[in-house]
Amino acid sequence: MPPPAFDTPLIFECGQDGRANCYLPRGPQLETLLPGDLVRDELPLPDNSELDVVRHFTRLSHKTFGIDTVFYPLGSCTMKYNPRINDAMANLPALRDLHPFAPDHAAQGALAVMWELERALASLFGMAAFSLNPAAGAHAELTALLIAKAYFAKRGEAHRNVVIVPDTAHGTNPASAAMVGFRVLSLKSDARGRVDPAALAAVAGPDTAVCMMTNPNTLGLFEDRIGEVSDVIHRAGALMYYDGANANALMGNTRPGDMGFDLMHLNLHKTFSIPHGGGGAGAGPVGVAPALVPYLPVPVVRAYEADGSPAAADGWRDSTGLRFALDFTAPDAVGTMRSFWSNFAHMVRALAYIYANGAEGLILTSQLAVLNANYIRVGIADVVDIPYPEINRHEFVASAQSLKRDTGVRALDLGKALLDRGYHAPTVYFPLIVPECLMIEPTETESKETLDAFIAAFREIVAAARIDPESALGTPRTTPVGRIDETRAARQPDLRWRAPSTESG
Ligand SMILES: *Cc1c(COP(=O)(O)O)cnc(C)c1O
Repeated sequence: MPPPAFDTPLIFECGQDGRANCYLPRGPQLETLLPGDLVRDELPLPDNSELDVVRHFTRLSHKTFGIDTVFYPLGSCTMKYNPRINDAMANLPALRDLHPFAPDHAAQGALAVMWELERALASLFGMAAFSLNPAAGAHAELTALLIAKAYFAKRGEAHRNVVIVPDTAHGTNPASAAMVGFRVLSLKSDARGRVDPAALAAVAGPDTAVCMMTNPNTLGLFEDRIGEVSDVIHRAGALMYYDGANANALMGNTRPGDMGFDLMHLNLHKTFSIPHGGGGAGAGPVGVAPALVPYLPVPVVRAYEADGSPAAADGWRDSTGLRFALDFTAPDAVGTMRSFWSNFAHMVRALAYIYANGAEGLILTSQLAVLNANYIRVGIADVVDIPYPEINRHEFVASAQSLKRDTGVRALDLGKALLDRGYHAPTVYFPLIVPECLMIEPTETESKETLDAFIAAFREIVAAARIDPESALGTPRTTPVGRIDETRAARQPDLRWRAPSTESG
């Protein structure tokens, strides 16, 4: 396989001795700015002018596929537009420059942000309380399962050691359950791609701790028997867990709390428009029903009326006139999951998004997300397989199984061919129960013109592949890096540039 075809020389491989603009002169001054052991003269670093370096990184940034440059229908990841007002709010100096050790009396504004966000999420999702402590979705699953474990231990039911996970679940669900020491029991979906209450009743019992689900599930289908499912689990004495990473489908329209869920998490970095991807910082609040509130991680933001009495916290309320304090003392808390206030800037972004949209805006957001996903499904339904041909929610799955049988072109090839057309690929090969799966989530922020152009490009790719499979098989051909060996890239990632002279070391 030839090396990646970059159209400009790598910055590390050009440059001339003495060319660097030296704003930091070598010598004792530099040593005072950097610890001495970081200043290593023997490193064979290239000497480049500042302009060359700026151009290098600016060119690289143009080669990035991101939501700010292209349509990004990556199912389950909710790559929607991130409104710039969110960043403006997160960058307000009074919030941004606050020291994480600031005493409560000097951080009242930041504590108010956390409290109002927590109240807004509780009322939007029908939970008694949320913790903003966990730093991502999987981290939140871990937190919630620790809460469930502590709850059963306190009730003298530590023997409950099984977590039931439907086969449509996100891969993090069984992984999180195993991390907490639970045994994972995978439950097969029925022919309609949903959990069958009778099949669940056959496996739920005195050793069941939690049933982890999401609704709509990862096929984009609403679990229309969720009430019966919750009853089965509650009759068995177990808890219902809601993976709300993809709450874009229902936010403001229905609430997990009303479906019988006792525990849940959200990915603020999906539903609430916070930049993500590439492993950046996330935010995964965990919400709980009343009986589980004592187990939430600390610190908890407590609100007090002007007279010092605890503020009533039933649903959302304006924080004007309240005082706030961080409470680290809750005796049954599962501990602290993340240092300081966790990813505070993301909390500011999420609250800005909620206030900018308002209740009506949030309702419309999820309705448009659902409309856009159905629009694409209908637009491509006659050129690929749609394994569950019914109204979907914020995303849907298609399958390239017939195309593969007829031409050898797979879901992977369609995803790669879309890159050449200037679109990010959909999620492929997930959920695992659909062969040659393409999982498409357009989100609400795309225009009809963009959806139409994507549908047209998708149809053209499939039509061309039916005549000449090679047209899709070798793609992408126009991207900075062509088709890579996926297995080697995953198993032996080579993410580091090595100077030629240190190659052997
Ligand atoms: C993204 C996602 C997760 C994991 O969230 P991270 O923040 O990446 O850890 C869990 N469940 C579902 C359904 C998701 O889409």
